[in-house]
Amino acid sequence: MKIESRLAQIGSISEPVTGAVSFPIYQSTAFRHPKLGQSTGFDYSRTKSPTRSVLEAAIADLESGDAGFACSSGMAALQTIFALFGQGDHLLVSLDLYGGTYRLLEKVMTRFGVTSTYVDTNDLDALEANRKPNTRAIVIETPTNPLMMITDLAEVCGWARKHGILSIVDNTLLTPFFQRPIELGADIVIHSATKYLGGHNDVLAGLIVTKGEELSKEMAFLHNSIGAVLGPQDSWLLMRGMKTLALRMERHQYNATRIADWLLSHPHVAEVFYPAQPHHPGHDIQNRQSSGNTGIFSFKLKDAAYVEPILRHIKLIAFAESLGGVESLMTYPAVQTHADIPEEIRRQVGVDDRLLRFSVGVEHVDDLIADLGNAIEQAYREVAGS
Ligand SMILES: *Cc1c(COP(=O)(O)O)cnc(C)c1O
Repeated sequence: MKIESRLAQIGSISEPVTGAVSFPIYQSTAFRHPKLGQSTGFDYSRTKSPTRSVLEAAIADLESGDAGFACSSGMAALQTIFALFGQGDHLLVSLDLYGGTYRLLEKVMTRFGVTSTYVDTNDLDALEANRKPNTRAIVIETPTNPLMMITDLAEVCGWARKHGILSIVDNTLLTPFFQRPIELGADIVIHSATKYLGGHNDVLAGLIVTKGEELSKEMAFLHNSIGAVLGPQDSWLLMRGMKTLALRMERHQYNATRIADWLLSHPHVAEVFYPAQPHHPGHDIQNRQSSGNTGIFSFKLKDAAYVEPILRHIKLIAFAESLGGVESLMTYPAVQTHADIPEEIRRQVGVDDRLLRFSVGVEHVDDLIADLGNAIEQAYREVAGS
């Protein structure tokens, strides 16, 4: 069945007692045992819970994996995955990385003796040069955020497999609607479901999908042992959001493409970073491995002095962190999402003080262009007049 149909029908045929089309919220932590040595399949909700199980089966299916695990946030999902590693293990990690993942690796995982090297994950020579005998995994974001760098997943996951290195892909920005890393050779997919999967800026959640029996068993063990699991109400809210994922992603893509193209020829804009545009260095790879483009992109102004007044003058677009919701949000990565990444690394990848990131919502594109156009115009006048 096509992915649009599977998304719309999440949980709708799973409730055997009443036939409820919207799968119920089972707000119970304990489950009666019919007899000594017997179980309904549910014992205690940290291990397994009915509403969460429907969500976990759905994401495993959507990502073409074998098992799914719902966590209390994207960071909780990453921490659960990183618990696969310990003293003396080494990871290769995408250079332009989500700030929270960088913080977890550098300030927490180092305490457990796990070290990381940050490389351009699309550069096989750089990967080979930084591979060590104790390299256990490669952690990839594609596209990266905020610079939208693209990694060739089939090539890099193939390289990793050849060296016995696990491939972990953060698929938050594209979702399984546009890109399925496991089909391209990844072992583990992780999502901040807080973003596009939830889609409404109202639920914090993380999802893990594993491929392979042994890895799935180990992840189930870690998920239960660590216990950073998603509750029944949030599991339901996430499924309710995911039912409209296809509609939302198509609109996000349409709006983002229109606005990015408009900014490309704007006199006060220096650069636009969006893989849907033919000048983007990752355009061809992105087209080959994904069926569409995310709704976020970044752009660099000609002058950093425009940043403050633009963020003050946008009205429909909110100046707020996060991404992937129906409401448009704009952030300033250098001082917000990427504040935990040292300035020297930020500059090296190009996250400087002229860069803005736009998470384009599903409002009418004309209203968004008018709002941003007005803010840039006002900023230009203020800077010119000062
Ligand atoms: C937001 C985000 C995370 C962290 O997820 P939370 O749900 O905020 O804990 C991880 N990776 C990416 C790419 C993100 O955008």
